[in-house]
Order: sequence, then structure tokens, then C-alpha cells
Amino acid sequence: MKIWKQLILCTALLVFITACSSSTDEQGQAPDNGDKQDNTEQPEKDDDEQNDEQQNDGTTDEQEDPEGEDAADSDSDAEREAPSYYVSDSWYIKPLDDDTNAKVVLLTIDDAPDKHALEMAKTLKKLDAKAIFFVNGHFLTTPEKKEQLKEIHDMGFMIGNHTATHGFLPNLSDAEQKEEIISVNEQVEEIIGEKPLFFRAPNGANTDYSKELADQEDMILMNWSYGYDWEKDYQTKEAITDIMIHAPQLGDGANLLMHDRTWTSEALEDIVTGLRDQGYEILDPEKIETKLDE
Ligand SMILES: [Zn+2]
Repeated sequence: MKIWKQLILCTALLVFITACSSSTDEQGQAPDNGDKQDNTEQPEKDDDEQNDEQQNDGTTDEQEDPEGEDAADSDSDAEREAPSYYVSDSWYIKPLDDDTNAKVVLLTIDDAPDKHALEMAKTLKKLDAKAIFFVNGHFLTTPEKKEQLKEIHDMGFMIGNHTATHGFLPNLSDAEQKEEIISVNEQVEEIIGEKPLFFRAPNGANTDYSKELADQEDMILMNWSYGYDWEKDYQTKEAITDIMIHAPQLGDGANLLMHDRTWTSEALEDIVTGLRDQGYEILDPEKIETKLDE
């Protein structure tokens, strides 16, 4: 019985690791904030990808016509307050005006909802800390996982698009990229009643086409400021906690990349506490400007 369970766990773990790291996961990097630079992430230990990213500013709105087609759209949409932050070119989150607290950090959890996302959401909820969960379509194929996504969203977390299969977009045709991106928007909308407002390409690797498509789909591109939990040296609760709260890239508006992983889940409370102890406010992503606000 025990062995049987362990076998299943091992298999699941292998599948997970393959899904996330074979195409290489996102890399930590150090854009040293600032608004204007077109900073390119430096995948330090990366095998294959280049990161190609860019900021964009959107247009369009959906939410301003409440009686629009999507009458079933849920509340968060209907009651959005005016945004007070924006995603800068360097992926740090900046205030839109001087009266807004700049000393914030954004928490993001990628490759969800796999094994730990729900638990992570509960931890964050308990701490009254918001976050964006960037989801992959291949995790949303069972009723249980769909229910988990709904639960995470219902707890007040924003859901972002992280592609269907965590594919490396520069290696894919336009049609394949379209499938990677659009299918997730459709799944998410079907489950939670609203489409993602942010798009994060696997490994931060966008293409001209994916940028264009995200724009058409009213999603803002969002890479990150730093993350470490896929690196060997940081796969314990203690190590990942320490680096996430002492990383050189930590600063006003830092956009923290974490994943649905065991050690990160275990460390999450200490990470939040460690950031707050340094005076950082955990930003509510609902305050970030989206294409619907423009
Ligand atoms: Zn990922």
C-alpha cells in the first residue's frame, strides 16, 4: 500500500518535473528596476531559451459596458477600482502617482494548479496576502483541478495565463502559439467566468506573435524580477525563504516568481512575513492597470 502510493507520487513528480523543467523553467534574473530599460533577462544557467520580452501598454476595455454580452461575469470585474500601479518595462510594479505606496512586492505563483497551488492559496489567504496564479491548461483537465482553480479564484486570487503546455513559444509556429495561449483563456473563462488579464510566457520567452496575440486578447505581458525555486540550491524551505527575502533584486515593486512546488509552498508563510518585516506591502494585483482600465 505504502509502496504503491510512493510509486504514484514518484510518477507524478516525474511528470511534473518533466513538464516544468524539460523546456526549462523560468529563470531568475536581475533586471535592476527602473522604468525605461528594455531589460532582457539573463538566464544564467539556462540551456536553451532566450528571453525576449517587452512591455506594452494596452488599450481597450470590456468592463466598461456592464450590460455587455458577458453579463455573467463575476463581481471582481464589475467593481474594479481605478488602478494605482502599472507593470513597468523591467517588470517591476510601479505606482501611477506619487501618493501611492511604492514599497510593494507582487507575489506570483506559476505552473499552477498542480500539487500545491490550493495549499499555497490557503496559506496566502490566511496571511491576507494576494497573488497572481499563472496557470497551465494541462493542469485544468479534470473536474478536481477545475474545482481547485475556481476555489483559488474565489479566495480572491487573480488568475493569469501561462500557456497550455508550458511550451517554449519561440520554437512553435504561430498556430501552435495561438493554441497554447487562446485555449487557456477559454478554459479559465469557462471555469471562473473571466479571462486572464496577464500573460506570462514560459521562461519569459515571448515572440512577436505572442505579444501581438496577448495584446489582442487584452492581456498585459508580465515576466518577473526574480525567482529561484527551480534552482537546485534553493529547493529547501530554508534556502528559498532566505533568498526570496534577501535577493539582490528585491526592491520597490519587485515582481516575485515562485512555483507550485513543495519547498516553496512550505516557505510561503516565512517569505511573506520576511517581506513584511522589511516594510514591503504585498500588493493586491487588482490594483495593477490592465487593458480593461484603458
Ligand atoms: Zn512556468
